[in-house]
Amino acid sequence: MLSIAIDGPSGAGKSTIARALAKELGFIYVDTGAMYRAIGLYVLRAGGDPADSRFVVPCLADISIALQYQDGSQHILLNGEDVSEDIRRPECSMASSNVSAIPEVRSFLLGQQRGIAQKQNCIMDGRDIGTVVLPDATLKIFLTASPEDRASRRYKELTAKGYHMDFEELLDEIEKRDYNDANRAAAPLKQAEDAVLVDTTGNTLEQSIAQLTALVKEKLHDYL
Ligand code: C5P
Repeated sequence: MLSIAIDGPSGAGKSTIARALAKELGFIYVDTGAMYRAIGLYVLRAGGDPADSRFVVPCLADISIALQYQDGSQHILLNGEDVSEDIRRPECSMASSNVSAIPEVRSFLLGQQRGIAQKQNCIMDGRDIGTVVLPDATLKIFLTASPEDRASRRYKELTAKGYHMDFEELLDEIEKRDYNDANRAAAPLKQAEDAVLVDTTGNTLEQSIAQLTALVKEKLHDYL
């Protein structure tokens, strides 16, 4: 099976770019952030603190996460309920970052993520795909952009969905999540040694998609 691992900090455009690439290549797209978000959502709904492992770990016994594909797009089911929209709520961002620092949460999702990549060609995005989940991925990409660029993308995305956010607050949250993700002990966000670094600062989305498509076609030339 072929697998492309795309890692990088929040808001670097990973999911939009990965989705476009998956469509172009006929691979499935797996958004692992959505799985952490679903666990964050469960904990928020249960009234717990997503940073409190004593609350979160016992919840895992009651959580089942499934990915479904409808017309090529990923839907995420939390105990059978489609929560694809709910997990995008702004409060789920910090909650997912907090639960994701808990080692038991990471191992809860790891087998499922690896299982998906064993069955089909996929593009998987997240923070630890190239380093932990798929260390033998066919191609690894580390996608980044300046915090201001990333916050401004998130700002446009969220305001388009009707959420009213303050730009400075969003920038602050992105920087906090970057810090959390890069400094946790369990599977921290970092570039795999064999990953190609792509910085999309200043690019339009179309430019980034074109750049990544060209890179993938060049690197996977012998397989496609
Ligand atoms: O990618 P997204 O921003 O939706 O991910 C939400 C959170 O889930 C991230 O801030 C990160 O803490 C966590 N995450 C992770 N490992 C992954 C994917 C996401 O720790 N592979």
